[in-house]
Amino acid sequence: MSKTEIGHRFYPVAEPDIGPTEEAYVLDAVRSGWVSSLGPYIGTFEDAFASYCGSEHGVATSNGTAALHLALAVLGIGPGDEVIVPSLTFVATANAVRYVGALPVFVDIEEETWCMDPRAVARAVSPRTRAIVVVHLYGQPADMEPLLTVARDHNIPVIEDAAEAHGAEYRGQRVGGLGTLGVFSFYGNKLITTGEGGMLVTSDRGLAERARYLRDHAMSKDRRYWHSEVGYNYRMTNVQAAMGLAQLERIDSFLGHKREILNWYRADLGGAITLNPGLPWARSSYWLSCALLPDAAIRDAVMIALRERGVDTRPFFFPLHALPPYVDAPRYGAASTACLVAEDIGARGINLPSSKLSRDDVSHISATLLDVLARIVADARA
Ligand SMILES: *Cc1c(COP(=O)(O)O)cnc(C)c1O
Repeated sequence: MSKTEIGHRFYPVAEPDIGPTEEAYVLDAVRSGWVSSLGPYIGTFEDAFASYCGSEHGVATSNGTAALHLALAVLGIGPGDEVIVPSLTFVATANAVRYVGALPVFVDIEEETWCMDPRAVARAVSPRTRAIVVVHLYGQPADMEPLLTVARDHNIPVIEDAAEAHGAEYRGQRVGGLGTLGVFSFYGNKLITTGEGGMLVTSDRGLAERARYLRDHAMSKDRRYWHSEVGYNYRMTNVQAAMGLAQLERIDSFLGHKREILNWYRADLGGAITLNPGLPWARSSYWLSCALLPDAAIRDAVMIALRERGVDTRPFFFPLHALPPYVDAPRYGAASTACLVAEDIGARGINLPSSKLSRDDVSHISATLLDVLARIVADARA
């Protein structure tokens, strides 16, 4: 360890920020005895979160993947149907399509947004297309207007996978409430957390009611233990909702800190390294600060070297069409059947430490990254 590193802690990519409000609400839920999926925090959290997104209804779930599954199920999507998803996303986006027996059709991303390319989506629409799942990757909103236009032209619903984008804004409106249904995750590393948890939001009362029904084993409202179809247990507990409500009350400060961190990285690295998209029409949540390195080999070497110096990073997702369950799935780029931008950016990107950092921490991480990168690039040339 060099002198400059003494005194610096290990920097994880993301860690939850849990404070006295969370402790108080969780303790209240525990002491009330309502520790399972009945209790007042659930409805309060659902209403508060839905209204935060500009949606009328919220349906809390056991995790974000369950919310995605419910979103597809309430739209009646099933075997023989196709659902368009971006190639560069977390695997849950495509897995949920498989859970309902439908076929994910992958489309490429745009270089400017890292989110799905509306031109590729237009090419991927077929007579079997039943939904488009838009992902706001790493907190950056996708370019919704052209995507919603394609969807409207073909009368296809849009599901927003906003699991990484709580509080992000597209042209002044919060994401999650822009499509037919929006889906969020409250996993431990997400912008707000309930440990495990998720939420589906929508302004369509019928879809919300059906989601509640399927969430609770599709049990009849008026006839206990009568189930006319196969449902799921995707309920959130009152204890999780208590934590979620406390986190939601603090969301502005979380978003402010994420933006502050990214701006510090920009000041330190912006001239040398491409960081998160910053577009005039969007307000990213900057859930994770990201960097694109020159190529895949350098990226991998930089990650190892940073880890040795106490700085944790994560690689970007693999393009899903490269993963064994999905190698044979159909795919569309803007001009071909290759998803070249997803492959390129997926191979070069890393997530940097992105929570609970001071200006000094970011300066240290940035300096370490520049030093490690310069050495690795020099070695590659030698
Ligand atoms: C985290 C995440 C999910 C899944 O959420 P879980 O709560 O972990 O099930 C889905 N989609 C994306 C894009 C995510 O990042």
